[in-house]
Amino acid sequence: MGRIEASGARAYGHVEYLANSIGPRPSGSKRALRAAKYIREELERYGLEVQMDPFGPLVFSGEARVEVLGNDPMGIEAIPLMFSGATGAGGVVGDLIYLGARPGAGISRMDLSGRIALAGEPPGNPFTAIPRLVRAAADAGAAGVIIHARSGGPKGFSLEAGAGNPPSAFISSDDAFSMLGALASRGRCRVRLRVSARAFESRSSQNVRAFLGPRDGRGRVVICSHYDTVMGSPGANDNGSGVACMLEAARALAEAGHEGGVEFVAFDAEEPHPYCMGSRHYVGSHRDPRAIKCAIAIDMVGVGLRKGNVPALKALYRAGYHRGKVLQTPGRLDSEIIRVSRDLGITLVRLMEVGLSDHVSFLRAGIDASLLRWMDDPFYHTPDDGAANVDPRKLGIMCSIIANSAAILSGSSDRGAGAR
Ligand SMILES: [Zn+2]
Repeated sequence: MGRIEASGARAYGHVEYLANSIGPRPSGSKRALRAAKYIREELERYGLEVQMDPFGPLVFSGEARVEVLGNDPMGIEAIPLMFSGATGAGGVVGDLIYLGARPGAGISRMDLSGRIALAGEPPGNPFTAIPRLVRAAADAGAAGVIIHARSGGPKGFSLEAGAGNPPSAFISSDDAFSMLGALASRGRCRVRLRVSARAFESRSSQNVRAFLGPRDGRGRVVICSHYDTVMGSPGANDNGSGVACMLEAARALAEAGHEGGVEFVAFDAEEPHPYCMGSRHYVGSHRDPRAIKCAIAIDMVGVGLRKGNVPALKALYRAGYHRGKVLQTPGRLDSEIIRVSRDLGITLVRLMEVGLSDHVSFLRAGIDASLLRWMDDPFYHTPDDGAANVDPRKLGIMCSIIANSAAILSGSSDRGAGAR
């Protein structure tokens, strides 16, 4: 069996549809439903058997707006943090206080009673640093919390669900600059923060599963990506790019008449706290984990500006902690993917960090899994994560790695495990 040919241009068409025609698609939204329907119809068009797998995560919907009050009023677009508290229609009004561009320890000992706290994006891992900052400001009495980007647009992130969070929103670095200008010139600055927010159990969240080849036997190779986005981001790279490459690999393998057992899964609800809910539901629904031979997760593979600018594999450390659990490196799977890439003339580098994406759900269940990613994306989780920033050539390289790895790992190729 020869090389499987996959097209970056075709994959780019999926990115355009998901990011431009559909747009932001947080889990539980109508747009997430449209994305699921699109993915389903594509997979059916390739002749795969598709199964929708619904589940009910706690999700969030809402909108946020900031106003600087007074003589020279200013209206500012904001993105609510997922699981932010809600304000009434009149919002919360308070004096603005700036906690610094890189807020650190000591906030919870301050007196922020009745104030609207503004702070730069805290240093460190945003998945833990942002909830910690909001919690500290709330403990100090803040009536609302506004976080600003260090550069560029506002970002979508999640707070802890059910934590009784204060009204919290994210704004751009430019808008923060204007607010700080107003504070500096006036000495005192009244601000209104309005957040409409609703946390609810989703009745429309679902994973889309599609099967190629035999469904049992020695285990399927799972190729997966999440299709939901954070609030306010069209999600072209995160993760329209991963879904696009998954779809194009499915098409290419089906068209090549591949007969090994491969399952393609598009996960919902990766983005809201406690994260990766779609993949956790998926892994948890398997009574026999041996039904899954290994998993390749694809997340953010169409933008890459980091020095060196090469595609990368994550989850490659000897042993590391994730939420208190030691995860082992799936060294053999990684080596196999790297070898397949080398045969295609592609250098894939190993990153010595686990990251947080759907591969972690598999690793935690003891299933070999790797994450494909292209580093780094300056538009991550912002309204600027649009199709125009996604590079079809990068998608083409990733599609090629995925389709050929899936072919070899699922073992109906003459270069498969039996032949070597
Ligand atoms: Zn993602």
